[in-house]
Amino acid sequence: MALKRALISGVTGQIGSHLADLLLEKGYEVHGIVRRTSTPAKVRRPEVKLHSADLCDQSSLSEVVRVVQPDEVYNLAAQSFVPTSWQQPALTGDTTGLGVARMLEAVRHNCPGARFYQASSSECYGKVRESPQHEGTSFYPRSPYGAAKCYGHWITVNARESYGLHASSGICFNCEGPRRGVEFVTRRITTAVAAIKKGKQETLVLGNLDARRDWGFAGDYVQAMHLILQQPKPDDYVIATGVSHSVGQFCEAAFAHVGLDWRRHVVSDPTLYRPAEVDVLLGDARKLRALGWKPEVDFESLVKMMVDADMEMP
Ligand code: GDP
Repeated sequence: MALKRALISGVTGQIGSHLADLLLEKGYEVHGIVRRTSTPAKVRRPEVKLHSADLCDQSSLSEVVRVVQPDEVYNLAAQSFVPTSWQQPALTGDTTGLGVARMLEAVRHNCPGARFYQASSSECYGKVRESPQHEGTSFYPRSPYGAAKCYGHWITVNARESYGLHASSGICFNCEGPRRGVEFVTRRITTAVAAIKKGKQETLVLGNLDARRDWGFAGDYVQAMHLILQQPKPDDYVIATGVSHSVGQFCEAAFAHVGLDWRRHVVSDPTLYRPAEVDVLLGDARKLRALGWKPEVDFESLVKMMVDADMEMP
């Protein structure tokens, strides 16, 4: 059988790297989209074939899709950091929102039989209308990032309903792991735990310690993304663990893992609070579980995995 070809935008990011690992393991030919910068893009796996294009540039995206002729397209690229979205709302809308429309147009005109995955986000639920959140829960975004992700979600649904594209969304709750960007709260905590344990740092200053998130492992979530595209019919699925913890509880578990008391080291600075906060997220992934998916890594194991990885960093 001919190799399946996948095209990933956001291949240099956390989820993209795990997805590339998974697809290569499954025998796919994996292509990735990278933005041109003066420093070359880094991917962990040299087998990934890189193409230069930008989510803000329609013709470059169309050209990549035309040349690669992928069986599956995973749109993971975005301006993905919520605080930056208040500083750069228009850029966030352009990449995280309109970028999805451009990817869909590239597929529609150049490879309409390809299956399309959109990385929708639990940030769409924002000020949650009900708990836990499922595929039918109304959106109420609380940041320019959340608003842009809502547009991306609905333009994907619209492409499916207007043109019959095999376009699906995974409404992905916070996904974490040792490859998580260092500015996200879980990784801020685990890098600080390692630095404090090694005597290089005394305190960790955070914002809101009471916010609650449904944190899962990125390696588990990419399995869900692949599974979603193997379904005969395109659809939307929540990807979540169904368990939520506060930022404070994450700190407690992470510091305890190396024998430290988090209350001696963590300070909450109200000036770091966000202009509008997402207080609590909790996902109901029953629809996806009915397809046979379940997360393998629980909260405690995730925290330990991240702390252990940061302890090993030089
Ligand atoms: P998000 O859910 O995509 O915004 O992921 P983050 O990891 O950036 O933030 C998760 C939660 O942690 C949010 O409710 C933040 O307000 C809270 N938080 C508290 N302190 C910090 C911090 O120092 N950095 C970040 N990124 N978030 C923090």
